[in-house]
Amino acid sequence: MASAESTPKTNTATAQVSSVYGPVPSWRVGQSLGIDPICINSICSFNCTYCQLGFIQVRVNERRLFVPTEKILADLEQSRWGEADILTISGSGEPTLALNLGDIISGLKNRTGKPVLVLTNGTLLHLPEVQAELARADKVYVKLDAASEATFQRINRPVPGVTLARIVQSLVEFHSMYPGYLGIQMMFTRVNLGEADEFVEILNRVRPDEVQLNTPTRPYPQDWVLQARGSHEGVDYPAKPLKRISREEADALRTKLRELTGLKIISVYKEEK
Ligand code: SF4
Repeated sequence: MASAESTPKTNTATAQVSSVYGPVPSWRVGQSLGIDPICINSICSFNCTYCQLGFIQVRVNERRLFVPTEKILADLEQSRWGEADILTISGSGEPTLALNLGDIISGLKNRTGKPVLVLTNGTLLHLPEVQAELARADKVYVKLDAASEATFQRINRPVPGVTLARIVQSLVEFHSMYPGYLGIQMMFTRVNLGEADEFVEILNRVRPDEVQLNTPTRPYPQDWVLQARGSHEGVDYPAKPLKRISREEADALRTKLRELTGLKIISVYKEEK
């Protein structure tokens, strides 16, 4: 259950805020139109130390309705969706917390004919209904920043009861039933850089279609601001920069993971030709 201090507060201004933003350029998917199924506060089952939304205001792992599907589709009509390569459901927190995720995915696909991607932290991936809803998306990218429970707690700071072991097992199960494209997103800092061997073991269990190596490129906002859900370009608010791994470290990691898994590994630091 959500604690009293973390109960979502419905913001009456939500009706005026658009749940669709961008398109914004993404190094992974091109021009990405952002879809925010939460919009009210920052709401997530993690509280990652590098989160571009800042310290998560509402930390829960229970599903509920935040933004009606009709509002999202109405906001879509007002957006520049025709310029987007892909529609990305992410926004102000963990999208699988939205009870209407499946309807949103179907609605977006029906209206635009464009591919839909969902970014998730995987904390609800063990639920059959969440797996079935995500299966409607063309692509699902799941966050994996730790290869041990201790590092998982330190980086992702999940709500009580969530374990890395359950997420990894859910990933294996989901991949066996999912007909779409499964990506694994890994955010590297000094904290998890030493777990490459353990990551190899997990990746060889899951066998995703793609692995993305990232390092924090956006600052950590001191408070939640709605604009933090999209590109931080030109956005001015108090934030602190985060330590990244270097190009050399990322290159070495990519080479190692590639050699030991045979998987497609891409990096935020583009490969030099
Ligand atoms: S899972 Fe995503 S939204 Fe949630 S805290 Fe981590 S980075 Fe932020």
